[in-house]
Amino acid sequence: MFDALVIGGGIAGISIAAQLSKKSQVVLIEAEDSLSYHASSRSAATFIENYGNAVVRNLNTASKDYLTYNNGGVLTPRGMMLLGKKGQREDFLKDMKSFGLKEISKEEAISKFNVLDNSKVVNVSYRPDVFDLDTDLFFQNFLKEYKKNKGSIFTNSKAEKIHHDGKKWIVSTTKNEFEAKLLINASGAWVDEIAKLAGVKPIGFVPYKRSIARIKLSDLITVKSWPMITGVNEEFYAKPDAGELIVSPADETPSHPHDAWATEEDLATGIYFLSEVTKLAISKMSSNWAGLRTFSPDRALVIGHDKKNSSFFWFAGQGGYGFQTSAAASELAAELIFGLNPGIGKAVAEALSPIRFK
Ligand SMILES: Cc1cc2nc3c(=O)[nH]c(=O)nc-3n(C[C@H](O)[C@H](O)[C@H](O)COP(=O)(O)OP(=O)(O)OC[C@H]3O[C@@H](n4cnc5c(N)ncnc54)[C@H](O)[C@@H]3O)c2cc1C
Repeated sequence: MFDALVIGGGIAGISIAAQLSKKSQVVLIEAEDSLSYHASSRSAATFIENYGNAVVRNLNTASKDYLTYNNGGVLTPRGMMLLGKKGQREDFLKDMKSFGLKEISKEEAISKFNVLDNSKVVNVSYRPDVFDLDTDLFFQNFLKEYKKNKGSIFTNSKAEKIHHDGKKWIVSTTKNEFEAKLLINASGAWVDEIAKLAGVKPIGFVPYKRSIARIKLSDLITVKSWPMITGVNEEFYAKPDAGELIVSPADETPSHPHDAWATEEDLATGIYFLSEVTKLAISKMSSNWAGLRTFSPDRALVIGHDKKNSSFFWFAGQGGYGFQTSAAASELAAELIFGLNPGIGKAVAEALSPIRFK
């Protein structure tokens, strides 16, 4: 029998599995034939410390040192620029404050982002300490640690039946049956489905679809040093990625758990907003994708033992910040499971606990 069984092989599952494997016997099961298939392979790979609500920001800040230094670090400076158009001043100032940006002149903005359309953009603000996050390397680092600690992984293993016999969990998958003392629900968009399978009351998570287009620009344009740019009220965002530009309409379409894909309309919306504020002639999309960002009712993560069934542990609601929060989130989860005081503080731990949902 395992000490803990983790359902879900995305960043949530692998990070908590790696933490627990330091002191206990863990098995991770994943429905797909490879790890990191759903949301975790579809992100914009960014670290923005001022992203999410106040509770989430505690996790961002607490994760930053780990992301910067652990295993040589996974962050590379990118910078973030907010572009305001005519009539958007009030909302521009609101976003500027929320993201911790400083107003800069249009000349300075053009020196950092040389395709900005001076005639359309009237306000610009910027901060340098927003980063690209190497999500593949970060995932692999957790995976390596987990394997070094003799953690077990089963892919192609969808949990189909989950039963507690009074002493332990028995989880039947497409291929195997596992027994474990603790069940950890890290199944992304499927967390409420897994809760129902286990006879635990669901919390009311909603997966929201978000789309990204990858754009090939003229060979004459060098995008590498451009910052991440974003419109007011998250109309869109764009950032360089592997020599090309990725653009998202920052869509949030309520959805159900599934293998998400982007629609032409959503992709076109992002490209439209980007074209509005730049001199770029966009003619070629090289690829596109969509993923599900799954939020709890108050949009903070849910980390902790279930209120009624303490052998069921929620590690869920990673939303749009699953990578940038995962160092501190997985550490907190391990502390709660091992009965230690939460390093992040009692108040934050309580704000993340499933107990907050009546
Ligand atoms: C477009 C987009 C941009 C984003 N940008 C960023 C960003 O810049 N920075 C950031 O930090 N975050 C970002 N995110 C958010 C981040 O990607 C997610 O928060 C994170 O990947 C969620 O990880 P997860 O492990 O919870 O979910 P997932 O990666 O979806 O993993 C859950 C896994 O559980 C498995 N599963 C489900 N049911 C079962 C079952 N019955 N049995 C076995 N396995 C099961 C699924 O197959 C899946 O692989 C973005 C997300 C999207 C979509």
